[in-house]
Amino acid sequence: MSAPFDLLVIGGGINGVGIARDAAGRGLRVLLCERGDLAEHTSSASTKLIHGGLRYLEQYEFRLVREALAERERLMRLAPHIIWPLRFVLPHDAGLRPAWLLRLGLFLYDHLARLKALPGSQALRLTREGVGAPLQPRLTRGFAYSDCWVEDSRLVVLNALDASERGAEIRTRTTVESARREAGAWAATLYDSEARRRESVRARIVVNAAGPWVGETLLRTLSLEARPMVRLVKGSHIVVRRLYEGPQAYILQQPDRRIVFAIPYERDFTLIGTTDVAHEAGPGPVQISPEETRYLCACINRSFRAQIGPDDVVWSFSGLRPLYDDAAANASAVTRDYVLDLDTDGPPILSVFGGKITTYRRLAEHALDKVRPHLPGAGAAWTGQAPLPGGDMEGADFEAFAARFSAEHPFLPEETARRLARAYGTRAERLLGDARALSDLGETFGGDLSAREVHYLVRYEWARLSDDILWRRSKLGLRMDREGVARLGRYLSAAQRP
Ligand SMILES: Cc1cc2nc3c(=O)[nH]c(=O)nc-3n(C[C@H](O)[C@H](O)[C@H](O)COP(=O)(O)OP(=O)(O)OC[C@H]3O[C@@H](n4cnc5c(N)ncnc54)[C@H](O)[C@@H]3O)c2cc1C
Repeated sequence: MSAPFDLLVIGGGINGVGIARDAAGRGLRVLLCERGDLAEHTSSASTKLIHGGLRYLEQYEFRLVREALAERERLMRLAPHIIWPLRFVLPHDAGLRPAWLLRLGLFLYDHLARLKALPGSQALRLTREGVGAPLQPRLTRGFAYSDCWVEDSRLVVLNALDASERGAEIRTRTTVESARREAGAWAATLYDSEARRRESVRARIVVNAAGPWVGETLLRTLSLEARPMVRLVKGSHIVVRRLYEGPQAYILQQPDRRIVFAIPYERDFTLIGTTDVAHEAGPGPVQISPEETRYLCACINRSFRAQIGPDDVVWSFSGLRPLYDDAAANASAVTRDYVLDLDTDGPPILSVFGGKITTYRRLAEHALDKVRPHLPGAGAAWTGQAPLPGGDMEGADFEAFAARFSAEHPFLPEETARRLARAYGTRAERLLGDARALSDLGETFGGDLSAREVHYLVRYEWARLSDDILWRRSKLGLRMDREGVARLGRYLSAAQRP
């Protein structure tokens, strides 16, 4: 058997890849295993906000909000292609939270953000501002504030890519079936479902970043005692054709005190979410229920002039929030903060409970702080200043980069140039290679996906199946018909045949 890895990371969601990247950059030997595709579960089902979490102020989560706001400023600079500012309109609705409370919350939010890269909050007369036009006439006053958007599943892939470029082994479609403490290290059995092969590996430390499966991994995969520390809360989103003009998002208060977002999505659509439903069944894939769809439609219909119903939904997705169980009475009130549990009763195991996309980089730093005493020679923290792949743009100025990229590739339709610049940043050059005409990009599958892009995704981004490409590396699934999807599936199988 070969020399042990320093870290075996279980799970290719944002927390697993973030830890793998950080560890690899500190010179550690890292193996990350993901049972399915990268970001196949919670990390592609989020609301896609890099945010402090305005509503967590109501739960006095000041530590979390401050850390998240600092990360917001930092991540914008490190990945300006997939993270960008978003202005939110928060209408005041009589009978719900009073205007003074909203103003106080926003004042705190502005002041907890120490750096001021984004504009602060402001009061709005919705009757006089264009952003008020799509709303019902009773909503006359409101506020605006800023947060950021993130392409969540791409953030995961870019972290995995950087980890691998720094020496980590990233294996998708590989399950960690079991691991036990043996002769001063962890002995683990892996199953590669593509090659249909089992393999034994050794590691000094195991990181359990299995998200919703964190408890099950402790109990079943690692045969350790685990008290139930994770609480699963399902959240669903719906996507409809664009409901309104303009780049602004809306944050809508609901009579049950929840809030629901309406966000411009993929140019022609609006993303609406999320629900918060306690999930008593075990972890696994989840789908939106008819009640959740009706709930989200009703939230929109309460505030917008345009009215929607379940028939308007063109796509939906659901995920399980793996929240740290702090014994809160209702699902919306469970802490969104994370807890790292280090068990050193033998070779160490670190388990990740909770967390947000927004705080993944800090979570990874904290995780490394915890395991570092057990790994002499591990380097110091470094990720705070290092752009993610494709994010190395002059002055972190995406618009300038996108304009230059488009001008340098005049054969690309404007929309395609922008989509590639957004998805791949400076790596888009590598994707295009020597192409000088559209025909050089090969066969197309609909929704401007070319064979060359498919090859890039297979070669550099662990894409294997059409869903990996259409719903996680991109959202081209929204624009592709059944025939295109089937053709892409056949093309991928042929391309990967030995
Ligand atoms: C509806 C919703 C909205 C959200 N909105 C936001 C938001 O706007 N902003 C924000 O910051 N956060 C948001 N979050 C939170 C954020 O999405 C999660 O905290 C984060 O994605 C969790 O990532 P993870 O890596 O812990 O879990 P996951 O992404 O689920 O990754 C865990 C992975 O482990 C793998 N795995 C499990 N067992 C094994 C095994 N034995 N072997 C190999 N692999 C295994 C699974 O296949 C899975 O892919 C939201 C969450 C939800 C559900």
